[in-house]
Parts: sequence; C-alpha cells; structure tokens
Amino acid sequence: MSFIRRLTAVCTPGLCRSFSVSMPNNGTYSCKVLVIGGGTGGCAMAAKFCRRLPKDNVIVLEPSKDHYYQPLFTLVGAGAVTVRDTRRQEEKLLPKKAQWIQDSAKCIVPESNKVVTVNGHVIDYEYLIVAVGLINDYDKIPGLCLALQDKSSGVSSIFSAAYCEKTFSDMQKHKEGNAIFTYPDTLIKCPGAPQKIAYLADSYFNKTNVRSKTNIYYNTCLPFIFGVPKYAKELLKVVKRKNINVNYKTVLKEVRPEKKEAVFFNKDKSEDIVMNYSMLHVTPPMQTPEFLRTNEKLVDENGYLDVDKFTLQSTKYPNIYGIGDCTSTPNSKTAAAIAVQSYVVEHNLLATMKKDEPKFKYNGYGACPLLTSYSTCILAEFLYGGVPHETMPFNQATESVTAFYMKKYLFPAIYWHLMVRGYYHGPETIRKLMHPFEKS
Ligand SMILES: Cc1cc2nc3c(=O)[nH]c(=O)nc-3n(C[C@H](O)[C@H](O)[C@H](O)COP(=O)(O)OP(=O)(O)OC[C@H]3O[C@@H](n4cnc5c(N)ncnc54)[C@H](O)[C@@H]3O)c2cc1C
Repeated sequence: MSFIRRLTAVCTPGLCRSFSVSMPNNGTYSCKVLVIGGGTGGCAMAAKFCRRLPKDNVIVLEPSKDHYYQPLFTLVGAGAVTVRDTRRQEEKLLPKKAQWIQDSAKCIVPESNKVVTVNGHVIDYEYLIVAVGLINDYDKIPGLCLALQDKSSGVSSIFSAAYCEKTFSDMQKHKEGNAIFTYPDTLIKCPGAPQKIAYLADSYFNKTNVRSKTNIYYNTCLPFIFGVPKYAKELLKVVKRKNINVNYKTVLKEVRPEKKEAVFFNKDKSEDIVMNYSMLHVTPPMQTPEFLRTNEKLVDENGYLDVDKFTLQSTKYPNIYGIGDCTSTPNSKTAAAIAVQSYVVEHNLLATMKKDEPKFKYNGYGACPLLTSYSTCILAEFLYGGVPHETMPFNQATESVTAFYMKKYLFPAIYWHLMVRGYYHGPETIRKLMHPFEKS
C-alpha cells in the first residue's frame, strides 16, 4: 500500500473512496502553519503569521479563486449594490509570503499532523488553523435546488453569491400575493440576515406601490425574533410597523416550484402548513464541510470543530486552532466575531509555539447590522450570553441612518483594507474612547 493510500485509509473510509493516487501532480508539502480555508478568518490568519514567520512557512489551502465579502450579499439582494462589488480575486488578498495551494482538504490526520487534499497532495504541518466556514445544505429541502436554479421560480437566497442577485430580480417581478422569508432549524451565519432581507423587501414593495397587494411572512424556526432581548424588543416594533406576519417555530420542509407552494412544519402544532408564494426567500440549512464534519477526532456532536470557547484551541489537539463559522463556539457567526477571534488565535498560537499555555480569551463578541430599510439600521453588538456591548455613544437599538452608512461603506472598507490583511481586531479600542468612564 502506498504512503498516500495508507494515509487516506486513516480518514473516514466513505469520504476517501474517490481519492486517486495516480494524479500526475501529487506533491508533498510541509510548513510551520497550515491554514485551511482562505475566507474571512483564513485570510486574516495567513496575513498575521506571514508577518511573523519567514517566507514559505505559511501554506493556505483554498479551492476558490474568488473571495466574497458576504455581509454585502444582503444589499445585493435588495439591489443596492452588485455581486461584483462583493468579489475580489483570492490571489490578490492572500499575503505574498504565503504559499497558496488551490485545492480542497479531503481529510485531516491530526495524530500525524497531515492534511490530504482532494487532488492527492499531502501537507505536513506543525500548527493548523481550521477556517472552512459553513456551507449551504440545499439538499435538505426537497425541491429547493431546482427552484433556485429556475430563473422564473420566484425562489432565491442571499446566502449564496450565485443566487443573491436573483433575490432582487424576484422583488422586481413580484406584483402581488405572498412574499415569504424563512429561517432554518440549523445554526447559520449572520442570524440577522433572514429578517433584514424581509425589511428591505417591504421598503422596496412600498417604493414600487405593490405593498398593499402583498402579504409578507417571516417564518422562523426560532421562538423569538432575535437572540438578544434588547434588540428583539425594537425589532418587534419594526415588524409591527411594517405589518409583517411572523410565524415562530415554523420551518421550511419542502418547495414545490411547479405549484409555487412551500411546505412548512409548525413545531407547536406538529402539523404541516402549505403556503402559496409569489416570492420565496430561503435561508438554507447550513453545516460544516463534509471532510470536517465527519472527522470524529476533531468535531463535536454537531460536526463543528471542537474548540475551547475562550482560547479557540482544539479541545483534543493543542497544535490545532479554529476560527470563524466552522467552530463550536456558541457566538453569533459573523465576520465581526472573526475580527476579535483573529487576535486571540494569533496570540494563543504564538504561546503554543513557545510551549506556553494559551492565555488570551475570546469574549464571544459578535455584531449584526440589522438593516430595517434602504437608509436605516439597528447595529446590534453583543458578547457571549447576549450581553449588549455597544461601540457608539448612542443607543444602538434605535434605528439609525449613521449605522446604515457604516454597514454599506465603512465596514466593507475595513474588511478589504484591514481585516483580511490581519490588521483589524474589532472596535474595542474605539469603544473605550467612546465610553471613557466605563469600567472594563
Ligand atoms: C447574507 C449574509 C449576510 C451576512 N451579514 C453579515 C454582517 O452584516 N456582519 C457580519 O459580521 N457578518 C455577516 N455575515 C457572516 C460572515 O460573512 C461570515 O461569518 C464570515 O464570512 C465567515 O468567515 P469564515 O472564514 O468562517 O468562512 P468563509 O469566509 O465562508 O470562508 C470559508 C472558506 O473555506 C473554504 N473551504 C471550504 N471547504 C474547504 C476545504 N475542504 N478545503 C479548503 N478550503 C475550504 C471556502 O472555499 C471558503 O473560502 C453574513 C453572511 C451572509 C451569507
């Protein structure tokens, strides 16, 4: 049995079945720090360690040539920016000192510090940072894939670069009837986005004079509108003012595009509800990529990389850290969270390299700019346990024009110029300046 074949046998058998050892370009690489995933967290960490280590000490394993600033997908769905505005070439974002292997991880073998890729490369690492995010699980909902691919179905999702422009095209085509917005029964990235797009649709339908002929429904699996009570209270006022029907504990289970019907399951009544739609915006169920989810040595019972929620170090392998949406930390999965996490991972991994204990602690910070129209936003910021932790000197639960323009212009600029380059660690310094007399 060849070396690579022996390695893949260590991985989940089903996963590695299609693995080929006859690829002409199979190679063996080695590095001090391997970063899997070149999205928000991966780029930030690669930049940080490239500054700290000599050239060729950092490898980034990332299959995609494009990198998207996903938080703007909501405004793409509302027609306020284009998907092109959200995209940059991966090669221009990754630090020059990093080696980029444009391939996907097939399996991690943590006991021998190796990663095998889909194309058959083997990468030896000393330290590993896992930053592979969450993927959309469209197949969990029968009928959804076909409906998303059909241009005239009225079904779209801002949670994908491929379908977020369709949301605006569906809004333009909508003239009357039900516009339904969903929230699934899995953990998702940006838990505020499913309702933001409903608020923007309401504003758009008002602009195009079809609102009076439209019923807007927000069907969510959750028993509340938002997980942080301070913001939930204000959002309920928005929902009331906009006359949006909220159905709690109601989960999309099937789409029937040929009849323009969506089937929901109501958990309280334990019954199916069939609703007609003119427009259906789906927030798909999400999960970690399969190669990670099925690696029992590394994940928790839900398939997330099992890390200490404060230090972000793997609970099982000290030379492995996690950052971003793919980890088990019970925070709101946002880019804002990753900014704060990147500082913690950087300093804790440096301590691990020196054989010290990781001392820095992630406080669970997350932020969610809840767009309530084309010019207003509630800027939610909070820590573990849903404790509000606001940066600005005004009450951020109030709808604000300033927060809207921060979301549209300031945050993307911070992202491209500072965050993915490893220079942004969240707004804590600004917060301290804005609240000089507050005890930390
Ligand atoms: C519609 C929408 C609105 C949002 N709004 C906000 C907001 O207002 N504020 C906010 O802070 N956040 C928001 N977010 C969330 C934010 O974009 C994510 O939390 C963040 O981008 C996650 O970063 P990540 O590095 O964990 O994952 P990603 O940036 O998704 O990167 C994961 C990377 O891993 C790669 N990968 C996957 N599998 C493999 C593999 N097998 N091998 C190698 N690489 C792999 C992928 O190609 C990808 O590049 C929003 C997201 C969406 C979709």
